[in-house]
Amino acid sequence: MKLALAETFCSIQGEGHLTGKRMFFIRFAGCAVKECPLHPSQSDLCDTDWSISTVLTGEQSIDALAKEAIDTVGASGWVCVTGGEPCDQPEALSYLVSSIHRLGGKVNIQTSGTRRVNAQWDWLTVSPKTSATELKQAYGQELKLVITDQKEDEVLDYYQHTRFWNYYLQPLWSNGKCNSEQTMAMIDRLNNRGQPWELSLQVHKYLGIR
Ligand code: SF4
Repeated sequence: MKLALAETFCSIQGEGHLTGKRMFFIRFAGCAVKECPLHPSQSDLCDTDWSISTVLTGEQSIDALAKEAIDTVGASGWVCVTGGEPCDQPEALSYLVSSIHRLGGKVNIQTSGTRRVNAQWDWLTVSPKTSATELKQAYGQELKLVITDQKEDEVLDYYQHTRFWNYYLQPLWSNGKCNSEQTMAMIDRLNNRGQPWELSLQVHKYLGIR
């Protein structure tokens, strides 16, 4: 078994419902979500460096990563498994999450929803990069949509075709600016049509931390 890793670090969760919780971030390398409008194959807007830094080989090295995470955040602390797209490496994802759970940690998986998640999460965040009807992972704890150029009806569809506990819209940062007015106007319109969307901020960017 192999796990291609981009990076690990400890910080606070800056987005969505778990904002402010201290987490150990494990960022998987690579992202095969070519339909994502932020993907480097389409634009230059993905703000995540998911190039490979290390390849872990074998169960022992993945267990060692899980132990490093729990040693950092403490027993029952949170580990955020993100990417890139962690579901591009399903075997390593499933093993890593089980290993963290054996040590007593809690896992927040972050995915684009273009594949079914094959691991037991404590909190699942889907940040869709495909239309609502094409989502393979259509339930979980939160759906967090980054606002680019979606039409109102496209966003309405996410609520109608999925089952999440929380629904967030998040502004897109590009060249030091964020489309907050466009995002807030969309939230107003969706709330007025009876859908409970809320604002997700990338708080770490305002704080100047990772
Ligand atoms: S799915 Fe996520 S990691 Fe992949 S290109 Fe889009 S924003 Fe970046």
